[in-house]
Amino acid sequence: MSFTNGIYWVRQDLRLADNPALVAALEESQNVYIIYVLEQDKEIRERGAASKWWLYHSLKSLSEDIALRGGTLTIRQGIAKNVIPAFLDEVKGEAIFWNRCYEPEMIDRDKHLKTTLQNNKITVKTFNSALLSEPWEIKTYSVFTPYWKKLQEQPIPRPLDAPTFLQKTQNFIFSEKLEDLGLLPVSPDWAGGLRDTFVASEAAAIKRLETFLEENVDLYKEERDRPDKFSTSKLSPFLALGLISPRYIWHKSQQEIALNPNKKAAVDKFLSEVGWREFSYHLLFHFPTLPDKNLRKNFDKFPWQPDPIALKAWQQGKTGYPIIDAGMRELWHTGWMHNRVRMLVASFLIKDLLIPWQQGEAWFWDTLVDADLASNSASWQWVAGCGADAAPYFRIFNPTTQAQKFDPEGLYVKKWVPELRKLPAPQIHEPWNCSISVLKEAGVLLGKDYPLPLIDHKTARDRALAAFERIKIAQAGA
Ligand SMILES: Cc1cc2nc3c(=O)[nH]c(=O)nc-3n(C[C@H](O)[C@H](O)[C@H](O)COP(=O)(O)OP(=O)(O)OC[C@H]3O[C@@H](n4cnc5c(N)ncnc54)[C@H](O)[C@@H]3O)c2cc1C
Repeated sequence: MSFTNGIYWVRQDLRLADNPALVAALEESQNVYIIYVLEQDKEIRERGAASKWWLYHSLKSLSEDIALRGGTLTIRQGIAKNVIPAFLDEVKGEAIFWNRCYEPEMIDRDKHLKTTLQNNKITVKTFNSALLSEPWEIKTYSVFTPYWKKLQEQPIPRPLDAPTFLQKTQNFIFSEKLEDLGLLPVSPDWAGGLRDTFVASEAAAIKRLETFLEENVDLYKEERDRPDKFSTSKLSPFLALGLISPRYIWHKSQQEIALNPNKKAAVDKFLSEVGWREFSYHLLFHFPTLPDKNLRKNFDKFPWQPDPIALKAWQQGKTGYPIIDAGMRELWHTGWMHNRVRMLVASFLIKDLLIPWQQGEAWFWDTLVDADLASNSASWQWVAGCGADAAPYFRIFNPTTQAQKFDPEGLYVKKWVPELRKLPAPQIHEPWNCSISVLKEAGVLLGKDYPLPLIDHKTARDRALAAFERIKIAQAGA
């Protein structure tokens, strides 16, 4: 043992399995103190409301898992740059171990803290546990396919086992009560739908992966774009706070291929989506302004038309486009939205309404249980066309034809927009084109029971293309 007292600082790695910082702390220290700090540094973007709810339950579960193994999770709140040195002082810690974060402000904080601690003769050891590959290990790519090919050429370390025993620290250490951190909604308690949808625990994450690989992955390639099917893994919230590690997902998936070689194509497709998460972190690391600023600078001149009333209709799922409204209501109710529908609602906000992508990004940040700075900002920029490897500006999703293709029987819309449930498919996706008698039979009075379209898609599309032409000209002239 190199140290009498070591600290493992829990950050976005709320699990015991495949946790290199925790394993190293246990190997190198006689006593290991485990701390979580609810960050209050204004430089670091505060979590959104849904993510705070998820954090509460994930911390609760982690502290129970730690207690089951004989240890204690200490919780504090404040500015981590101050709280951590004070805690090291308090417990006479000689070393601290943490798994790295890659959000630009967190990188700055960690660099600053590391220097301060090292100047005070504290040993600092940091590890990768959040990604398959460190963002700096692969040369900078702004196109996904060569990046992903390169990443897969690298060896992916095997995940580490969870420690079976965590010793109780000798002294009484003050810990904040989880209930006092203000992470849960109080009045109103809007989290009922989130509770019905997700259970936060490391065991639930592992079970989710296993069930997905055993039962759902076969049809992943064919059905992953279908919001009416249960065809994707729904692992994103677990990955966002590190309840499961991508290395664990990778190796478990390889085992599944070894057992069932016929699943290879489907599992590879699934892993390539995990690859998009890696790519998003790669982009965030190399382009730290990704969350706020257009990667393609010509977009700085884009003639956005911010419109608080239209933004609100979008947020509330009252645009008059059933697939858009279904997605936005699914998000509000469950804290999650299907990927294809995320693309559609984002395209609608940006291209049909000409509302700046940052306003959509902010709403997702607040309402997504899986809110993740890298994936959220990279995806919004991708849809807008101003990001890396982005959808071309002229790809403007038609919400009606997309809905008819990916929700052919209208089941997804019927679930989330129940006022339309008696309309037949495929007309359910375009109620404004239904005859008076069809609407009457379905009990729908447009403009009263369900809104008329906020904007005509064809007109909106022409307007967006004209706006994009202007920045093309601006770019050519720059
Ligand atoms: C506008 C927009 C915003 C988004 N914001 C987020 C976000 O804040 N957090 C987030 O985790 N994902 C975000 N995504 C990506 C994607 O929609 C979700 O990761 C996915 O829907 C999660 O469902 P799943 O776990 O069932 O995915 P699966 O299809 O089962 O994929 C497995 C895992 O791969 C990763 N993944 C899949 N697709 C993507 C993608 N396009 N980009 C990055 N990673 C991906 C996720 O970690 C996911 O859990 C966003 C996409 C769009 C279009």
